[in-house]
Amino acid sequence: MSTKAADVVVIGAGIVGAACAWEFAREGMSVTLIDSGAPGGGATAAGMGHVAVMDDSEPQFALTRYSQQLWREIVDELPDDCEYETCGTLWIAADDEELAEVRRKQQAYTRRGIDAEVLDAAALARAEPNLRSGLAGALRVPGDLVVFPPCVARWLIAGATECGAQVRLGTAAVEISDRGVRLADDSLLPAGAIINATGHGAERLTPGLSLQPRKGHLAITDRYPGFIHHELIELGYLKSAAAVGTDSAAMNVQPRITGQMLIGSSRQTGQESTDVDMAILGRMLRRAMEYLPALARVSTIRTWTGFRAATADKLPLIGRCSSGQRSSQGRLYLATGHEGLGITMAPGTARLLVDAVMGRESAIPPEPYLPARLEKGDSA
Ligand SMILES: Cc1cc2nc3c(=O)[nH]c(=O)nc-3n(C[C@H](O)[C@H](O)[C@H](O)COP(=O)(O)OP(=O)(O)OC[C@H]3O[C@@H](n4cnc5c(N)ncnc54)[C@H](O)[C@@H]3O)c2cc1C
Repeated sequence: MSTKAADVVVIGAGIVGAACAWEFAREGMSVTLIDSGAPGGGATAAGMGHVAVMDDSEPQFALTRYSQQLWREIVDELPDDCEYETCGTLWIAADDEELAEVRRKQQAYTRRGIDAEVLDAAALARAEPNLRSGLAGALRVPGDLVVFPPCVARWLIAGATECGAQVRLGTAAVEISDRGVRLADDSLLPAGAIINATGHGAERLTPGLSLQPRKGHLAITDRYPGFIHHELIELGYLKSAAAVGTDSAAMNVQPRITGQMLIGSSRQTGQESTDVDMAILGRMLRRAMEYLPALARVSTIRTWTGFRAATADKLPLIGRCSSGQRSSQGRLYLATGHEGLGITMAPGTARLLVDAVMGRESAIPPEPYLPARLEKGDSA
């Protein structure tokens, strides 16, 4: 018996695949979403859920801002378990050199219409009394928000199914070809378009993407309501996120709506084990305590790891894939490589892909994210 072709088969039900399934289904397209495991169980379950506008590069800024605007369109509809909160971000400057960078960032944000203010040392101490004394100041970005990503992924999938999407869980995709997507149970899903949204594992289905898995650790505390009020990130986090090939740990502490705190974050390359590495975890927690000494009296109740999918130029791969083109007859699209910003960028990624598949103009230029910029050639 032959299966009727779906307009779109989305492989991977993390936050990115879920957002894609939702957007395509809302456009009235027939969608099949597949995942080898549970929805939102990959990096999406490991992430912090910070939805932040970032300005490492113009394309990063464009996609994070666009995506945050799209997040704002849905947050009021999110159920309570999605733990949405607008706590804003404080980028902490430890010294005068970092404060100069805070001032530069403030101008860059406000010039492009993002609310951002510089806090001096006294204002920072008033805003966050648990921070150590002697810090130089901070950049406050009040519009940044926080969600609980796995629940949002499930909510998006429920929305997609309400629009008619089919969801198949527990079976891996093993091959993408001109006939469609072949699953581990040997069934074949023919498709008009195929979206590879399998996160850091995307290369298994589409070889040649040069994705680097970057391992991260997180810890969550017991409930301490009011301990901190903003997502607190040391400015050095940006250097740590940009450094490739070296292990790093930077202070990034997030208040949850439950009163808990999520403590991050570390980056390691060349790691395959999902085990918690006590050495880097210890380094990460000590770094957080350097900024928030009272964390030493706080109970940590769980630690875990996850993998970010990193690209060479620190931008995601969104759009038609040319390296798998011959074998998939031009129907293969990628939605991966978001590194530490996949939660933030998921809604914008989904819109860019819907526009690409439907041949529509996008709200932001799609070119900086097109996979062709990094592909090694048509290997398939
Ligand atoms: C420690 C840490 C902190 C982070 N903090 C943040 C943050 O604060 N803000 C932010 O924006 N981002 C953050 N991120 C990044 C973010 O979590 C990821 O970018 C995002 O979750 C990627 O989502 P995804 O859907 O692409 O991948 P995943 O969530 O990994 O989903 C991929 C899915 O594909 C499925 N799959 C894989 N292979 C197959 C196959 N062959 N067949 C079928 N299914 C398959 C998997 O089961 C999985 O469900 C963080 C990441 C880490 C590790």
